[in-house]
Amino acid sequence: MSFADLPAPLRTALEGRGYAEPTPVQAAVLQPEAAGRDLLVSAQTGSGKTVAYGLALAADLLGDAPRLPPAGAPLALIVAPTRELALQVKAELTWLYAPAGGRIVSCVGGMDPVAERRMLAQGAHLVVGTPGRLRDHLERGNLAPGSLRAVVLDEADEMLDLGFKEELEAILEETPAERRTMMFSATVPRGIAALAKGYQRDALRIEATSQGEQHGDIEYRAALVAPHELERAVVNVLRLEDPRIAMVFCATRATVARLHGNLAERGFSTVALSGELSQSERNRALQNLRDGRARVCVATDVAARGIDLPDLGLVIHAELPRDPETLLHRSGRTGRAGRKGVSVLLVPHTRRGLGQRLLTAARVKATWGPAPSVEAIHAKDAERLVEQARTLAAEEPAEEDLAVARTLLADPALAAQGAEGLAAALVRVLRAPLPAPEELSDVSERPQRREAPTPRAEGDQEGIWFRMDVGRNGNADPRWLLPFLCRRGHVTRQEIGRIRILGRETQFEVAPYAAARFAAAARRAEGEDAHIRVEPMQPVKGPPRRPRQ
Ligand code: AMP
Repeated sequence: MSFADLPAPLRTALEGRGYAEPTPVQAAVLQPEAAGRDLLVSAQTGSGKTVAYGLALAADLLGDAPRLPPAGAPLALIVAPTRELALQVKAELTWLYAPAGGRIVSCVGGMDPVAERRMLAQGAHLVVGTPGRLRDHLERGNLAPGSLRAVVLDEADEMLDLGFKEELEAILEETPAERRTMMFSATVPRGIAALAKGYQRDALRIEATSQGEQHGDIEYRAALVAPHELERAVVNVLRLEDPRIAMVFCATRATVARLHGNLAERGFSTVALSGELSQSERNRALQNLRDGRARVCVATDVAARGIDLPDLGLVIHAELPRDPETLLHRSGRTGRAGRKGVSVLLVPHTRRGLGQRLLTAARVKATWGPAPSVEAIHAKDAERLVEQARTLAAEEPAEEDLAVARTLLADPALAAQGAEGLAAALVRVLRAPLPAPEELSDVSERPQRREAPTPRAEGDQEGIWFRMDVGRNGNADPRWLLPFLCRRGHVTRQEIGRIRILGRETQFEVAPYAAARFAAAARRAEGEDAHIRVEPMQPVKGPPRRPRQ
């Protein structure tokens, strides 16, 4: 199937965008078997699915007519999970239907409902919106459903995950029974299958993303890091990859806020996206990314849904995604419209098993390795610098640049350094504004858990004893102590032995093979939790002394 059989105005629009060939999902919805039918399509963002249903709707909207009739009661309704996605869908359908004279109105939560009512009253061919707002307009009589010929549910699985089941059912109940219903969903879990069964007739099932086939344009990497060094690892990944735009995913708003602050402080031009932003703040943040004023976007999963930035070359999972679908959704922000992208999963070494399970469940193959080291970043910087210098040296230098060069060469202090000294000084000048890479602990030497001897497993061999200056006076309790010690010293629970809580301090045992690593990590992390000091006890071996009280 090619675009050749489409109505002329749509062909004009596609040509205008330079889209010559249908993507697989577009070819699938345009096959003769799909004509006029309900569709249940598994397709991911980035697959061209918006244009796919835009094209599928053509027959319902245009029939054989060369142009759409004057806009009146809407002919098709598209429901999407977030404001962002809904507005992008509107933008996409606007160019697609412009030559056909299409008028598209959006109705999304967070925007002015009165303005939307006015737009609806002026007539529309297509209405795009979020579930809650669309339902409101339907209930208030602002949106007349009587002429609707088709309803599209976009990212249906996301809508169910976000708790919109009731709204979707209400919308579907309100629309004419003979409508055509198309559902697009990255995955088809039980809830989606049930919705399809209840509201579709004889739906054609289309699997545009063949199961088990990895997105060819996304390279997955998994980097093992010490649990308390995740943020530093983010810095190093950003520095090594140096993409035009990067997206960093966190699990909570609190982490987004902290990481955003930390990255900004280190000199990255960064924006944050999380649920609490107003629509205009979100728009401003995205605009900053589009026009190059910001290069890093730190976001929660919900806030980042539907975002389509073609220049986004890197996705970092600063915190592990909660399930394989989220891993794919996050990663799908890159590798869009045929461009290459990298998706880096930062895996705390204590959660390596979970990281591997997520990748396996998402059916993606990742290359495992350490997070980028300072040396690797410096080497890459040098490579980029030489490359850039070569490219620019091939161009004719501007007169003002030559004037600066002459001043540099004429400077007695610089001239005394010779050519190498002068070049080295310039390299320092160029390096100065780059955020400094971070020293990271080497977590690769950690033995696999199965082989790790615990203090107990080795015939009660003594561990190395440490102490921390919190005891019963500070509510010391194994329930928080154990995770705290694991994080602070990047060891696993198995590597911590006996714990003794005393009045003003707590003593604990660390497996002998892990003690040096524990001590080094605990020392390094001191600044982060300054009120708690962790230090080796004297004597290092043997049962703990009673502390001086
Ligand atoms: P979507 O999956 O709808 O988020 O689309 C991802 C990107 O692919 C959007 O920027 C589309 O404009 C673009 N796109 C859609 N169809 C095509 C096509 N046939 N050829 C090239 N790019 C396309």
